[in-house]
Amino acid sequence: MSLTLDSRQRAMLKEMGVKVWSRVVPVQAPGERAARTVRTTPTADTSAMVVQPRVAGAETMDWAALQQAVADCRACALCNGRKHTVFGMGGLEPPNAGRPPVANWLIVGEAPGDQEDLSGLPFVGPAGQLLDSMLKAMGLDRKRGAAVGDGQAAQGSYIANVLKCRPPSNRNPEGEEVAQCAPYLRRQIELLQPRIILAMGRFAAQALLHDSVPDVHSLPLGKLRGQVHSYRGIPVVVTYHPAYLLRALGDKAKAWADLCLAMQRFSDP
Ligand code: SF4
Repeated sequence: MSLTLDSRQRAMLKEMGVKVWSRVVPVQAPGERAARTVRTTPTADTSAMVVQPRVAGAETMDWAALQQAVADCRACALCNGRKHTVFGMGGLEPPNAGRPPVANWLIVGEAPGDQEDLSGLPFVGPAGQLLDSMLKAMGLDRKRGAAVGDGQAAQGSYIANVLKCRPPSNRNPEGEEVAQCAPYLRRQIELLQPRIILAMGRFAAQALLHDSVPDVHSLPLGKLRGQVHSYRGIPVVVTYHPAYLLRALGDKAKAWADLCLAMQRFSDP
């Protein structure tokens, strides 16, 4: 894959704190689309809210029905503390109303934090800014599609999390929460049909690779990096979560190497 950095992407890599040793092909953004999120009504007193069984049939829902199912979901105790569900955002405008956005890239993170819970959008705040820098360095962004390389097809990028509701105090997701929420991400992936998935952080890697990497729950993230995995036939590249990279500046270069691996895999015929 031929990689050529333009000045903007060099600036983005500088923002990431990454020393440039590869070249990224300049990009053409074909259009913008608004963020997609369904907001639930903020509830002042959550003590009366109870956990209820998840609505059946997520595996056959269309995009709009899936958004609504997440917005209404009370399938785990995280519903009690949330202000908004965070379904995801990004991709290109679909050709027909009601269809999922067009997204060749899917970025999967862990769970909403405080600011995501307030806004209903994924990856806002400092970690989100770093993710934006990483995406721009790759010629992507969360709202627009981009073209990579001469004559290659336009692409969109979509951002989603394993959990759609914020764990209190930004604690780690619990197994039952991940199990209850998993059908939503699974259906998102089925509908989006991305050409590649970037799994950011340990929980995203575990959620996507538990069928293909038997010991994924005991492996450190570093052991999952540097190779292309598979989720139901879709290539998956694992990298660090941007929130971690904000604390571990020395690992930004490794994250850039992961992004280069993903770009290379994406460009493979
Ligand atoms: S985290 Fe997922 S399963 Fe739990 S209430 Fe929110 S949408 Fe439902």
